[in-house]
Amino acid sequence: MKILEHEAKKVLEESGITIPQSVLIRSPDELATHLGSLPDKLVLKAQVDVGGRGKAGGILMAEKANAMVTAKDLFSREIKNIPVKEVLVEERLDIVHEYYLSIAVDRSTKHVLILFADAGGVEIEKVAKENPDAVRRASLPLIMHDVPQFMVRDLLGIAPKELGPVINQLYHVFQKKDALLAEINPLVTTPKGVVAADAKLIVDDNALKRQGITVNRDLSEREREAERFGFSYVELDGTIGVIGNGAGLTMSTLDLIEYYGGRAANFLDVGGGAEQERVMNAVRLVASVPSVKAIVVNLLGGITRCDEVAKGIISAGVTQPVIVRLAGTNEAEGRGLLAEKGYQMPDTMEQVVKAAVEMTR
Ligand code: GDP
Ligand code: MN
Repeated sequence: MKILEHEAKKVLEESGITIPQSVLIRSPDELATHLGSLPDKLVLKAQVDVGGRGKAGGILMAEKANAMVTAKDLFSREIKNIPVKEVLVEERLDIVHEYYLSIAVDRSTKHVLILFADAGGVEIEKVAKENPDAVRRASLPLIMHDVPQFMVRDLLGIAPKELGPVINQLYHVFQKKDALLAEINPLVTTPKGVVAADAKLIVDDNALKRQGITVNRDLSEREREAERFGFSYVELDGTIGVIGNGAGLTMSTLDLIEYYGGRAANFLDVGGGAEQERVMNAVRLVASVPSVKAIVVNLLGGITRCDEVAKGIISAGVTQPVIVRLAGTNEAEGRGLLAEKGYQMPDTMEQVVKAAVEMTR
């Protein structure tokens, strides 16, 4: 998950990196109350999650005297189609030189990759393409607590030594925040010292809980319910409800539905060892989607017991036809229970899917 500039800068500051004096505002009116404490020369920066924000019109220079007008202008803009809802108002830095610094996980080597370039402010991809020698690299194992001084010196090359400490400070942020990427572009030198003029932080989604970050995703009522039950559930726009166990089996069920010309209404993986109640909840959840005309249950009995699955399907008591493929542990018992109630149980996965596609045509 990407952390917006103003939040990322706060994180950098906690680790000792200097950031510009600033206030975050949600409307031009909010700026009025802060103007007194701000310097004369300002930069207004739209807090939108897009790259190349400056070029796209998301960064405006202002003087205190015209800051309100500039803020109104910025709030009325859309930056690459994203409306501006928050603006970071910062002291304008007196930039001597712009550098690039980033720390990222390098999946190919399973190391941490540090990049430093003398040419900051512009896109690093462009620098790397046009002038590959300008980008200096260092790679170190994830277990290191600090970036060794020889690496810091090598990264900096002929750049000022005063930039050195920031490399370790950013490295500590990277580690502490479970980041996939920590980037300062540009890292600038000013007459008053080294300052992070921009910041970007991407936290590993698997670490959000540990980091105490809550994500406000727009979940549908059903998706929220699926989350409560602990199902892996994704809503699609077809007419065939799908329940499987294991992501692979469930995905191949979706593939077969597409293959035979049907449209899946969802992906739902109940997980291993599902018992009656869990299966019942899954069937009811899928059946509650108004567009669902038939439901395919494709479950493999390993630790999951087919008789529990059968009881779950029966107790769900949904109105749509449920076509079942059951194989594995306690298969005969499961099939027996379903047969008594007249459920369709074709022998193969292909036949199950074909039957569902026929019904929904
Ligand atoms: P980005 O376009 O989203 O990467 O936004 P940045 O925050 O990196 O700003 C883009 C560019 O605007 C920087 O590379 C600088 O050249 C310029 N800029 C940003 N803040 C300041 C500042 O305080 N003073 C000056 N002089 N230029 C700035
Ligand atoms: Mn930038």
